Formats: sequence, C-alpha cells, structure tokens
Amino acid sequence: MSYKNYPMVSRVVFGRGSFNQLNEILAPKRLSSKAPFIFLVDDVFKGKSWLTSRIPLSYDDKLHYISAEEEPKTSQVDELVEQIILTHKERPSGIIGIGGGTILDLAKAVSIMLTNDGEAKDYQGWDLVKNPAIYHVGIPTISGTGAEVSRTTVLTGPEKKLGINSDYTPFDQVILDPELTKNVPKEQWFYTGMDCYIHCIESLNGTYLNAFSQTYGEKAYELCLDLFLNNNLPKEVAQDKLMMASWHGGMSIAYSQVGVAHAMSYGLSYLLGTKHGIGNCIVFDHLEEFYPEGVKIFKQMKDKHNIQLPQGLCADLGDREFDIMIDVALSLEPLWENAIGKNWQKTITREKLKELYLKM
Ligand code: NAD
Ligand code: ZN
Repeated sequence: MSYKNYPMVSRVVFGRGSFNQLNEILAPKRLSSKAPFIFLVDDVFKGKSWLTSRIPLSYDDKLHYISAEEEPKTSQVDELVEQIILTHKERPSGIIGIGGGTILDLAKAVSIMLTNDGEAKDYQGWDLVKNPAIYHVGIPTISGTGAEVSRTTVLTGPEKKLGINSDYTPFDQVILDPELTKNVPKEQWFYTGMDCYIHCIESLNGTYLNAFSQTYGEKAYELCLDLFLNNNLPKEVAQDKLMMASWHGGMSIAYSQVGVAHAMSYGLSYLLGTKHGIGNCIVFDHLEEFYPEGVKIFKQMKDKHNIQLPQGLCADLGDREFDIMIDVALSLEPLWENAIGKNWQKTITREKLKELYLKM
C-alpha cells in the first residue's frame, strides 16, 4: 500500500477584516514592476466599493471581473491565459481569485496554464501537470465548496467535466475573511452550504474513510448541524463557522472521496448546466437508500429554511440525453467505489441511474 503524499495550502490567514492585509501579503511576492498581479473577481462585486476599493492595484496590475453565472470551462481558462500573455510584458507575479468556487477554480487553473503548454483540457485528470503554477491566492466570498483547500480545480471541457487534480493546484495563500460573505443571498447560502454538508455525509459514509478524513469530516458535520438547524446563532458567528466548516469539509474529502450525489450531479451539470450546489441538493434529496440519516436531516434543513428545489428537471429528456448523463456519472469510478465498495458495478447499473434521474 502506498499512501498519498498530500500537498496543502502553505499559508492561511483567518479573521474578520483580514482582507485588509492583502497588500502586505502580496507586496513581497512581486517579481518586478512589469510582472503584474492579476485579480479575478466575481462580477457580483462590480461597483461594490466596500470590497473593490481594498484591492491593491499598482504598476501593471489588472483586475478582471468574471461572471459566476456559469461554472468554469477549459476554453474560458485558455482565453484568459492568452489575454494575460498578450497584454503583459512579463509573466504575472501572481493570480488572485476573489469569489466563490467558480472564481477560485478559475484562478487555480489560470495559474497552472500560465506555466504549462497546451490547453486546459489536456490536464483534466490526475497528476498530468508538469510545471509548478504561478503563485496563486484564493479569497472565498461564499462558504461551502472547500475549493479554497482542495487539490483540484473543476472544469467543464469539450469531452468531460473533470478536475485538474495535481500537487500544483492548491493555493499558496488563502485569506479567510468571513465578512466577505455577508451579502450572499439566502438560497445560494443554502446550496453552497449544503455542498459542505454533502461532502461530510459522502466522506463519513464512504468505504475510503480513515481517521484523517473522519476527524475533519466529523467537525464539519457538527458545524453544519449547528449552522442549519440551530435558530440562535448570531449572524457573524454563523459566517465564521460556515467558513471553517467549508475548510474542514474540503480537508475531509481530500484524503477520501465524495460519493453518489456528486457523481450524479456532475451528469446534470454536464448536460443541463445545473450548478454544483443546487445540483447536489436536487440529487441528494432522492438518495435515501444510500444515505438514510443524511437525507432525513437534509430534508429537515430544507424545510427549516423554506427551500423549494426545482422538480421535474429530467422529465422531458430523451434516451440520448439520459445516456450522456449516465456516461458522465459512471465515468467517476472512484466516487462509486467510495460510496458502494469495490463491487459497485453489480448494483449501479445504467437502469438504476436512469430510474434515479427520472425522480429529479
Ligand atoms: P459560485 O462561485 O458559482 O457562486 C454562486 C453565486 O453566488 C454566484 O452568483 C456568485 O456571484 C454569488 N456570490 C458569491 N459570493 C457572493 C457574495 N459574497 N455576495 C453575493 N453573491 C455572491 O458558487 P460556489 O457554490 O461557491 O461554487 C461552485 C463551483 O465550485 C462549481 O464550479 C464547482 O464545480 C466548484 N467546486 C470546486 C471544488 C474544488 O474542490 N475545486 C469543490 C466543490 C465545488
Ligand atoms: Zn461538492
């Protein structure tokens, strides 16, 4: 047995207002006046000076507003990289992503593709990246995905939705400032928060579970119960705790795997563009047979926060469309092996998946 030698985020700041330290964190990393810092910022913050006025721009630094309407694509990464190379005289000093999982994943992927030849789609998979990425910093503004700690950047390519999983993917620096999450709309707060909850359920109930994953997963799970079922948490405490739940949930799956909800949600996302958080919720709502206790509590959380999930997403799909979703879901073998065990193919048939998708 050979154990995975796992890279982690090398530096992290936590605290309300820690975003103010961005300049002092970046300044020593500037390579030259011609080597800019490139800021990729969720365009939800356009015109929000309480945040943008604190982004330190000097010399040739550049801020790109990016829409998180759609999840990141390999082609989008390639375009950004080309634009950066054509615009600037020198390779950037660093890439800074400010936003949710969508923007964080873009920042990771751009920093990798600036030092590796070819196209982003060539690197979707495990350990295909050859050269270290450019210095990259992640600043989450919504909590739950764990993208701030993970070793992957999930991209939709021409053939598949799959991460660039590599030792060079994790951020060199993360700034966890819970204040940045203050204006997240309630529905989105729930969907992205549930991503964290589902990470815990899938990790803690998986066959890959080990003490490393379990200790992180149990802490994140406990935080999620408190956050989504308890009435009495002051707002700021809740923001702080959800940020740490996301971190721990991400650490938990790092050393194990996710499971059925993620595998099936990737199918929905690939075919219909359903976003990760809401997609996971739509799928998880129908997974009682795999995660009875987890789904029961999920439904309580959903009721408590008055969340109505879309229904009938797959009602009008044809055979070809089901085939595409089922192919994507089944290709994620480690997720099924974690969820069901080595003999997962005996029970997870195409018919079984179609039957489940038809409920959604
Ligand atoms: P997101 O980044 O897609 O953002 C969701 C919505 O929230 C967007 O409309 C965005 O503009 C808005 N938003 C973000 N911060 C806000 C704020 N402070 N105030 C108001 N609105 C705000 O959401 P997400 O759920 O964090 O990320 C989903 C993405 O993360 C998917 O692309 C998924 O594949 C990826 N993901 C990656 C990993 C990983 O390990 N790399 C893990 C899980 C998910
Ligand atoms: Zn997830």
